[in-house]
Amino acid sequence: MAGGEPLLSGFENPEDNGFETRAIRAGQPHDPRTGGVVTPITLATTFAQENIGEPRFGYEYARTGNPTRHAYETCLASLECADYGFAFASGLAGEDALLRFLVPGDHVLLGDDAYGGTFRLIDKVFGRAGIRSDAVDLADVDALRRAWTPETRLVWLETPTNPMLNIVDIEVIGAVVHELGGLVVVDNTFATPYLQQPLKLGADAVVHSATKYLGGHSDVVGGFVATSSEELADHLAFVQNAVGAVSNPFADYLVLRGMKTLAVRMERHCSNAEAIVEVLVDHGAVSEVLYPGLVTHPGHEIAKRQMRAFGGMVSFRIARGRPAAEKVVTSTRLFTLAESLGAVESLIEHPGAMTHASAEGSALEVPDDLIRISVGIETTEDLVVDLRAALDRA
Ligand code: PLP
Repeated sequence: MAGGEPLLSGFENPEDNGFETRAIRAGQPHDPRTGGVVTPITLATTFAQENIGEPRFGYEYARTGNPTRHAYETCLASLECADYGFAFASGLAGEDALLRFLVPGDHVLLGDDAYGGTFRLIDKVFGRAGIRSDAVDLADVDALRRAWTPETRLVWLETPTNPMLNIVDIEVIGAVVHELGGLVVVDNTFATPYLQQPLKLGADAVVHSATKYLGGHSDVVGGFVATSSEELADHLAFVQNAVGAVSNPFADYLVLRGMKTLAVRMERHCSNAEAIVEVLVDHGAVSEVLYPGLVTHPGHEIAKRQMRAFGGMVSFRIARGRPAAEKVVTSTRLFTLAESLGAVESLIEHPGAMTHASAEGSALEVPDDLIRISVGIETTEDLVVDLRAALDRA
């Protein structure tokens, strides 16, 4: 096969091997030539052929197939309990590849709280190509049924959502959308497969910004699509090669390495987030805390059912509005004012002016007193002290 065959280690099957074991071993056999326990970074762009059209190990050209990428694809597909996985140059490149199966006239329903870049891609890029879209509140199944049209092909959802941390019931939405004859795509960036496995809950495809928790160290941009649908897998393999927005071998290596510690990092992100939530709930400068781990959160029971824990992202609103919110995000010492999320260091941002600026004026616009934090894995008490001091100034 021109794309090459990924090497297997025997630890790929989710039924026989735990999550942490698969994260460390799936798709990563010891190097057959040296015994090395780490998957090598293969930089070759082309591979020797025995005869015309007969590559020695199945690999021909690195856009089509690369051994480091295959190791990463095999590992993450295994973590998502998917039959197929495809790595891309960024989360948005992966989303773009998946959405290319739509044709002019098709219609997409997008959850009304989604990453601004996803909204921009669907609205501005695919909109120009004749694909219509609408935003819908996916907590309201009747609203979804009302928004459905004969041309609707898919529902795109995030849970927890970015940045409002709403929870969508994947199983319920999956059942309704399948009954209506469409597909469900879940952006699993916030939860990661450690906390939530959407394909097991009925999703047709999962997308990731691997730039976030999967890489985990703010040093790699990447994207991923996992699916068990043969039809979608054929489409993705074709587009990955035909369009060529592939990840590079260094990036593949970094995500593969990051995933080995995903489980322990996520445990710590979650426990630090819980400590931060306690500070926020008790602080007078905060008018509302958005975190699915709170029993008062409207999606708490669903989150408890479909997630292992509640994640490392916390959003909150500041009682005295945008100026006070700006003061908080510029006053922390340990939480760095920056976009992105999901890495070892804690970050703080103002979504309305930063990550979600592209949604201004749309149904996805976010409140301007909102702050989003990505809780890292630093010493819990240091984070608590830093955030409390910044809130005292608001
Ligand atoms: N999905 C979510 C939930 C995101 O937060 C992001 C980026 O912030 C993306 C997708 C896009 O990923 P990338 O920045 O890797 O293209």
